[in-house]
Amino acid sequence: MDVREALKAICTTHEGFCWYCDTQLPEAEEAISTGWDVKRLEGERVASIILVCPNCQAQRAQLGEEEFLRHLSLRVCNATC
Ligand SMILES: [Zn+2]
Repeated sequence: MDVREALKAICTTHEGFCWYCDTQLPEAEEAISTGWDVKRLEGERVASIILVCPNCQAQRAQLGEEEFLRHLSLRVCNATC
């Protein structure tokens, strides 16, 4: 998948948010230059496209997938309960 093309396409919908932290996707050019990423998640029936902001990518790279997700669920819990 072409990340640049995908980012541009998602930008036109104005409905792009980071999958992890809900940061809104900026303009396409800014998203590309700051390092937003687009990934395919294979679902049970359909594959969905998810966006990952530069902050979450950096954190995930630093902590590792498992630890990152644990921090994330703690953060979500703190925000809602
Ligand atoms: Zn994020």
